[in-house]
Amino acid sequence: MVVPIILFGSPILRKNSIEITEEDDYQKYTDDLFNTIRKAEGIGLAAPQISLSKRIFVIDTTPLVGIDTMSVEKFEGVFINPVILDREREKVSMSEGCLSIPGIYEEVIRSQKIYVRYMDLQLKVHEEELDGLKARIFQHEYDHLQGILFVDRINILRRKLLTGKLNRIKKGKII
Ligand code: ZN
Repeated sequence: MVVPIILFGSPILRKNSIEITEEDDYQKYTDDLFNTIRKAEGIGLAAPQISLSKRIFVIDTTPLVGIDTMSVEKFEGVFINPVILDREREKVSMSEGCLSIPGIYEEVIRSQKIYVRYMDLQLKVHEEELDGLKARIFQHEYDHLQGILFVDRINILRRKLLTGKLNRIKKGKII
C-alpha cells in the first residue's frame, strides 16, 4: 500500500521508535515502505515517516542509478532493528534532502564509513561495513528512528535561514 508521508512538524517524527518483534507484521511494514518510497521516488524511507513508530527502514538507490555525474550502484534493502556499531572518525559533507521536508537540501557532515548490524526480512542478522552513499543514507534513516532529522545536523546559521520554509511545511503549506 502507498501510505501518506508524514511531514516536518508532526510529533511522530520526533519519537524514539520501538524495536520490531516477532508479533509485528514486518512484511506488511516493508511492503508499505517500498511502495511508498517508489511512488515518491525517494532513496530512503523510515517507518516514522509513514506514521509507524517502529525500528525499520528501507533504502533503494534506483532513482540515482544511471545519473552520469553520480555513478551510483544499486543498493536496495530492508533494515530491521538496525544498530550502528561503529563510525569512522573521517567525516564528509554531502547535500541531503528528506521526503518529510520537501524542497529543502542542505549539506550535512557525517561519517564516511560505518559498521552496522541489522536483520533482513527473514530475521537473519547481518553485520557489515558500509561506506559512501550507502553509509550516508543508512545514517540519515537511522536518525529517523531516534527522532532526529537532517535539519538538526546543519549549522545553526543555515538552520535560522530555513526557519520560514520549515514553518510553512509545518503549517501544511509546502515550499
Ligand atoms: Zn528523511
